[in-house]
Amino acid sequence: MGGYIREIFTSIQGEGIRVGQRMAFVRFLGCNLSCNYCDVPECQKKDGPFLYNRKIYPNPVGLDFILDKITEPVVAITGGEPLLQPLFLLDLCNELKKMNRIIYLETNGTLPGAFEMVAGKVDIVALDFKIPSATGRPGMWKKHEEILKLAAKKEVFVKMVINENLIPRELEYTVSIIEKVDKNIPLVIQPVFGRRISNLLDIQKKAMERLKDVRIIPQVHKYLKLE
Ligand code: SF4
Repeated sequence: MGGYIREIFTSIQGEGIRVGQRMAFVRFLGCNLSCNYCDVPECQKKDGPFLYNRKIYPNPVGLDFILDKITEPVVAITGGEPLLQPLFLLDLCNELKKMNRIIYLETNGTLPGAFEMVAGKVDIVALDFKIPSATGRPGMWKKHEEILKLAAKKEVFVKMVINENLIPRELEYTVSIIEKVDKNIPLVIQPVFGRRISNLLDIQKKAMERLKDVRIIPQVHKYLKLE
C-alpha cells in the first residue's frame, strides 16, 4: 500500500517540548482543516508531488521507498494531517517499530477514531488544540479531549497556537480539558510566527494556576531558517 506524502527530510524539531532534537520528518499530504496561520498550505490537498532530495516523484509513495529514506532514530510524522490516511500510517508505524525507531506523531487533534487505530504504535504525541480566534474555524474541543484521553499514557503535550485575539474562554476550555485528563500534561503556548502578543506572560501565568507545566515556545526552525 502507498501513501500520499509531501516530503521526507531531516531537520531539528522546531516546535514543542522536543524542540532542537534531530529527527527524520515524513510529511503527509491532505488535511481536513484550513487554519488561517497554516504554514504548509500546499499540504492541505491530497494531490501533489512527493519531494525528496530536490527530486520530484509521483504519489502515492510505496512504503519501502519511504523506509529506505529514514536515517534518524526519531521519526516525526507530520502533515497536513497524518490521521487522514490511518491504514497507511498504521503500516508505516509497524515497519518503523520493527526498525526500532521512536515515532513522534503531530496531529491536529480532530480524528479520534483514526488516532485510536495507531495509538499503540506511537511514542510521542504532539496534540494541537485548535483555537478558533487563531484558526478562523469553529472549536473542536470534544474531539481534542477524546484524543488527549487516549494519548494520556504516552509522552504527550498539548500545543495551542495563538495570536493576539485569544479570548479567555479559549484558554479556559484548553486548561479545563488538560486538567480533567491530567494536569501534569505539558501545555505549549506557541505564538503565530511573527505576531507580537503583549500579554503572553499573563496567559502563561493564568494557565499555570491549574496546570503543572506551561511553556511558551515559538517555532524555532523558522528563526534558524530551517525546514
Ligand atoms: S491542521 Fe495543520 S496542516 Fe491542516 S490547515 Fe491547520 S495548520 Fe495547516
